[in-house]
This record gives sequence, C-alpha cells and structure tokens, in this order.
Amino acid sequence: MTEHSADLVERVVAGDRRSLARAISAVEDAENIPLLASLHAHGGHTRVVGLTGAPGTGKSTLTDRLISQARERGLAVGVIAVDPSSPFTGGAVLGDRVRMQDHILDPGVYVRSMSTRGALGGLSTATEAALVVLDAAGFDLVFVETVGVGQSEVDVMALVDTTVVVVAPGFGDGVQAAKAGILEIGDIFVVNKADQPGADAVVADLTQMLELGVRGGWSPPIVRTSAIESSGIGEVWDAIERHRAQLGGPDGDVGRRERAAHAVRRALLARLGRQTATREIPSDLVEGILRRDFDPWTAAERLVQSD
Ligand code: GDP
Repeated sequence: MTEHSADLVERVVAGDRRSLARAISAVEDAENIPLLASLHAHGGHTRVVGLTGAPGTGKSTLTDRLISQARERGLAVGVIAVDPSSPFTGGAVLGDRVRMQDHILDPGVYVRSMSTRGALGGLSTATEAALVVLDAAGFDLVFVETVGVGQSEVDVMALVDTTVVVVAPGFGDGVQAAKAGILEIGDIFVVNKADQPGADAVVADLTQMLELGVRGGWSPPIVRTSAIESSGIGEVWDAIERHRAQLGGPDGDVGRRERAAHAVRRALLARLGRQTATREIPSDLVEGILRRDFDPWTAAERLVQSD
C-alpha cells in the first residue's frame, strides 16, 4: 500500500466524509486489494440490513423511515442505493433517491448510489467493497437498498446480515417475490402500502408461501406497513432487532461465517477470472479444436489438469 492510501485509510477511520467517497471510488473502480485489506482490518462493527423488492413497492420511503428510527437511537447510518439500471455512478447523482433527502444534511447519515457504470467487477463486488469502507468508517448500521428484482439483487443480498423483502398490493401480489427467487432469501417480509386495498391478500399469499419452509429455527415474520403514513415502522425495526438477536454476536454468527467463506470464494473467482481473461491458449489446442480433434471444453479440462 502506498503512503497515499495509508493516509486515506486513516481519514476514513477518523470518519472524514470526503475521504469516504474517495475510498469507495478507489475500491470499486480499481481492484485495489491493498486498500481493501487495510480497511477490512478496521471493520467488524457494522450491521448490514438489505431491502429488496420490485420497483415502486416503497423501499426508498421505507428506508427513509428506518433511517429516522436509527437516528432516534443515535446510530450512525449509511445507505447504499444499488441501481442496476441507472447510467449514473458515484455519490454525485442520487437520481430519484430524493425521498432520502430529509436526511442528506444530517451528518449522521451517509447516502451513496451505486450503478453499473464504474462497477467493473459487477454491482455486488462494488457493493461489497463499499461495505468494507463504511464498516471501517464505523457506521453502526448500513442499509443496502436495491432497485428491482433479479439475480443481481439476490447476489447483493448475499452480503447483508438481514434481508428485508418489500412487497405491496398491486404488484402481482406475493407471487412476484416467489418468481424472483427472493422468497428464499427474505428474513423479514414487509407488506407495504397497507393503506391500499389488497394488502390482506398479499399477507395471505405470503403466509401460505412461507409456511413451506422454516430456515434454521427462524420463521420470517410478515410486517404490514404504510411507509407513507409512517405506520408499522417500529414493528419492522423490532423484527430487524429480533433477527439480529437470534443471529448472535459477531463470534457466534453463523451467517457471518458463511459470508466470510463466500467472500473468499468470490475473491478466488475474481482472481481466476482476471488470470483466465489474459491467458495465452497454446496454438496446438486452438488448431486441434479447428480440426475437430477435440472441443473447447476438453481443451479447458486439459489445461486445468496440466496446471
Ligand atoms: P421503491 O421504488 O421501491 O424505492 O419505491 P418508492 O419508495 O420510490 O415508492 C414508490 C411510490 O409509492 C412513491 O410514489 C411513494 O410515495 C409511494 N409509496 C411508498 N410507500 C407507500 C405507502 O405505504 N402507501 C402508499 N399509498 N404509497 C406509498
């Protein structure tokens, strides 16, 4: 690590905001492993709560209300808003995250948008790196909010301690969650827009679907909210706290162990990916494939065997 990055780490750990933004850009743009490694040494304190669900279900509004809950308790809060569709990157453009604007002037809240541009290794890799920075900076709680449903959301939610799945009436009911594969990853289900007709049907749908699987002694609660009317928010907070309590402390937390092991797997894959992308393929192998003596899959197998 250069002298320069040692300074940056020091400033991040001291809580300097401008350095936070610089550090996040540095770790997400380049594969800045020395910087990530020294930031990692300062972490371990932050709890990470993910919010996922279809666009328009009210995740931003709910996040905004949850930030208020955290601030009332004096917790320093980070927010990573992950938007795979947005062409913008970095903290400068918050797009339509205006619903969090109430908190933008609060020095205890740090909001960062993430998008595909600038996230060379993919959104989940960039989010993982940003989480390392926010953890080093000593945030008590970080909300990771994703826009949309799909594999990238599932990948991002693999990084968090507690996953909150947000659904709402008028979005194909609870079925949307099952389709997107987020039913399996939800630790807490929020049926938002409970002020709208159809919320009962969504709760019924979800209850039925969730009865099929209890995971590790935790049965995911279903909480009704109206984020817009600020009702049910305390219940969501309590559910997050209960989930955290059953996870245990950082040492007894099975989820954290699994995630640490998974982080090593991702790092290995990334490393192999980089090596493979620039690897010379011997010309006899290439010729053999063209002659149909063998195929690319067999060639790859031979290379692995000879390594
Ligand atoms: P996101 O795309 O999931 O982040 O959803 P937003 O938080 O941007 O909300 C989408 C729209 O739903 C906005 O117009 C919100 O004002 C509205 N909304 C959010 N929560 C509620 C709610 O509890 N009830 C009603 N009726 N509207 C809500």
